[in-house]
Amino acid sequence: MREMRLPLGHGELLELAHKLDTPFYLYDEGAIIENARAFKHHFSWAPGFTNYFAVKACPNPTIIKLLGEEGFGTDCSSLPELRISKACGITGERIMLSSNDTPADEFRAAYEMGAIINLDDITHIAALEKALGTFPKTISFRYNPGPERTGNAIIGNPVEAKYGVTSAQIIDCYKIAKAKGVERFGLHTMVASNELDGSYIVETARMLFNLSVRIKEEAGVRIDFIDMGGGIGIPYKPEDKAMDLGAVSTAMRALYDEIIKGSGLDPLKIFFECGRVITGPYGYLVSEVLHVTSKYKEYVGLDASMADLMRPALYGSYHHITVLGKDKEKADHRYDVTGSLCENNDKFAIDRLLPKVEEGDVVVIHDSGAHGHAMGFNYNAKLRSAEYLLRRDGSVDMIRRAQTYDDYVATLRFDGAPVVV
Ligand SMILES: *Cc1c(COP(=O)(O)O)cnc(C)c1O
Repeated sequence: MREMRLPLGHGELLELAHKLDTPFYLYDEGAIIENARAFKHHFSWAPGFTNYFAVKACPNPTIIKLLGEEGFGTDCSSLPELRISKACGITGERIMLSSNDTPADEFRAAYEMGAIINLDDITHIAALEKALGTFPKTISFRYNPGPERTGNAIIGNPVEAKYGVTSAQIIDCYKIAKAKGVERFGLHTMVASNELDGSYIVETARMLFNLSVRIKEEAGVRIDFIDMGGGIGIPYKPEDKAMDLGAVSTAMRALYDEIIKGSGLDPLKIFFECGRVITGPYGYLVSEVLHVTSKYKEYVGLDASMADLMRPALYGSYHHITVLGKDKEKADHRYDVTGSLCENNDKFAIDRLLPKVEEGDVVVIHDSGAHGHAMGFNYNAKLRSAEYLLRRDGSVDMIRRAQTYDDYVATLRFDGAPVVV
């Protein structure tokens, strides 16, 4: 079993938790940067390799900017995500719009920013042209292999997925786009989420390489880049093992040489849109224990709730929990670890073995650096927590303050305030 990593020692984290208002998120700058570099390094053989970081995973500009400085682009799926990218100095083709069910103003904003537009459906060709009054010179399509592939737990079976163009439609997409004067073409897919089995990623590469050959043969279109999407998982449980990206890269390279070089399609650029594997393991939710109660089960009640971290309640996801300062004690007490929402699935863990927990203890909820704060919400009028960044020099910067009551009510119009309908 792996030792679950912490960004600082127990004592230092306790000190920080007592200084700041809990709950809060803490991200580890050095670890994120090192990880981003390692990710790129694994694929340094691949032509034009880059990762378009999925903004939705961790939409904090300080972190997006850090990744931008490492050469990452952004994968956006809404107008505010496009604007965040721009604010972080990420513009033009360093932005991928991988949206679905896309509003016209989002298409227009992406086009005006020079972003690459990745279409989710064959009808979006006409929708995009209508929105722009013209057609971009570069376009990508999201492919859904349907029954040719099986999905995984979070993203589900591709046949049931709302995303992408079917196998029967994909050739027509490229023919139509070519007729509209498109000069550069991409091919995208995303058939997994939080996948730890590397062979799944390799098979996705094989699928896209083979499809690139088919598109060349049947549509007369040469694919300039493939975009593997996101979906690389992280080892949330101590017994999980991280995906061996070195082995994935080696296997992909062999397929590239065989299929792409073999059919004269080299160079074909390779992109990913990973979010989770980039920041996930390097973000932590720090929370104080408010109450320890004994009912028909034993409960640890935190000052964080599923409004701060929704994954356990939404997907039944495991997030490891460390009780600070009790690392030498035996984990021989069984608890449900809860938040305070009036909602019984507001639980971070069910039947979790922990050391004996007491009121005032501080816990760290691991692997919260992606799809964590970002998925937060305001149910029960819970206010969103602050985010802090542990800098490489050991200092700690607030990179998002906690929401206040005034923030929460700022959009309301009542009590004599003008209501314009
Ligand atoms: C969510 C998403 C990603 C990122 O997924 P991760 O699991 O965070 O790697 C990338 N691309 C698209 C289109 C997505 O919807």
